[in-house]
Amino acid sequence: MIYRLVFLGPPGAGKGTIAQAMAEAFGITQISTGSLLREEVESQTELGKKAKAIMDAGQYVDDETVASIVENKLASMGKEKGFILDGFPRTIKQAEMLESIMQKLGIALDAVLDIEASDDTIIERLGGRVQCSKCGKVYNLKNVPPEEEGKCDGCSGKLVKRDDDKPEIIKMRLETYRKKTEPLISHYREKRLLLTIDANGALKENIDNAEKALKRINEKKGE
Ligand code: AMP
Repeated sequence: MIYRLVFLGPPGAGKGTIAQAMAEAFGITQISTGSLLREEVESQTELGKKAKAIMDAGQYVDDETVASIVENKLASMGKEKGFILDGFPRTIKQAEMLESIMQKLGIALDAVLDIEASDDTIIERLGGRVQCSKCGKVYNLKNVPPEEEGKCDGCSGKLVKRDDDKPEIIKMRLETYRKKTEPLISHYREKRLLLTIDANGALKENIDNAEKALKRINEKKGE
């Protein structure tokens, strides 16, 4: 089964963690624009240097830059491979750009999963989030801790906190999300692509909710 999905939702709702689990379960590719941008920052490319200041301020990198990263990635994957776009699109303009990229490639979205969590949940989760500095795997010291403190279970890389997970930046990121990304919810609802996932619970429960939503897509496809 090929799925072509977008994951929407505020920072800290668990988009990345749920996308990671579902991509593994369905053998599809997780494309996280945040991770791809962080790789550019790590490698100190021109793009990375420009992006770092913007990301550290809790704002969005410009639409054209992010869309071209996604276009390259999708074009290189070939049209037979399913994917989860995790954190893209984040503006109406990006949604329009995605539509034309996919049209060019001759593919279409199956669904947009809106991963929803309350402000209290978000703040608690981002406070405990750490990430592997080598492979990017995400942990939460409260809910999804690593087996050995400070070390990635998969590759033994060092676990670090993201620069933009500081309380004052989290507040900015939430504000940017509400202003620029939340309008995408009605955009995709009007296109009849939106599925809302309650992600306030434990990780397993949230993944179950997302998988149930995907089952509904399958049923619709089979009709
Ligand atoms: P994330 O890992 O998805 O939380 O993204 C981290 C940061 O990368 C965001 O706060 C933005 O600064 C930047 N970023 C990621 N995806 C996008 C996007 N689609 N559009 C603009 N900026 C993005």
